Amino acid sequence: MTLFKSVFIFGLSFICLCRAEALTILIDPGHGGDEFGAVAMTQEKNPQPIREKDIALSIAKRIYDLLRDKNYSVFLTRSLDRTVSLPERAAIAEKTKADLFISVHINSSPEGGAVGFETYYLDNHDDVAMKKVERTENIQTSGDEVVVQQILVDLVVQQTVNTSKPLAESIHSQLKSTVGKKYGIKSRGIKPGLFFVLALSKRPGVLLEVGFISTFKERVRMMSPKFQDEYARAVVVGIENYIKGQHSKPGKTVIRKRK
Ligand SMILES: [Zn+2]
Repeated sequence: MTLFKSVFIFGLSFICLCRAEALTILIDPGHGGDEFGAVAMTQEKNPQPIREKDIALSIAKRIYDLLRDKNYSVFLTRSLDRTVSLPERAAIAEKTKADLFISVHINSSPEGGAVGFETYYLDNHDDVAMKKVERTENIQTSGDEVVVQQILVDLVVQQTVNTSKPLAESIHSQLKSTVGKKYGIKSRGIKPGLFFVLALSKRPGVLLEVGFISTFKERVRMMSPKFQDEYARAVVVGIENYIKGQHSKPGKTVIRKRK
């Protein structure tokens, strides 16, 4: 084992120990600043851009507010429209000693009519359809950076998948039974994905794809404050249900709210 790997694993162990102290949740609005994420145009005489970065920020802030109101220790990787690199997001996870990392994104598809919400957790796979989403969300990384990060992925998967997958299941099932049911939105399921923002953060976490900006009906819905609020509430209940599930398991670390 290289020194690098030893230090890395030590870092992960340290994170696990911290979980006994208090629960800190880091909410990560995807993209921002120069990086618009997926973009669609309004259907008006003078079309205006609708940008993933704006919708993601608005939903992320709602999740943040709801968790803060419930007295969790909660942070955002950005609260403004600014560029934040994937390594910077990971550094914020480190600095805040986040226990859970929730990244919020909006999907897009070149094929018209794609619909539905999906929830990703970090894991290896060889599904071609998922690789498309990964390519979009990993867009900031290239060349040597990718090679180094791919080495890290295996280690992080080992350390996080047992938490990330149940967290993804809890949030996704809540989305399904609330906004999914109410608006008749298709559930595209819980999926493994190799997202560098999840790997770099080295935390149990999920990446949410709220819906398709490329599909008129979905983007209109996602821009609605009412829907954004309902979606955020479902995510928060999903997180809380996951935490309650951890409490009820014997021998699990105790996660407490901020005093
Ligand atoms: Zn995105």
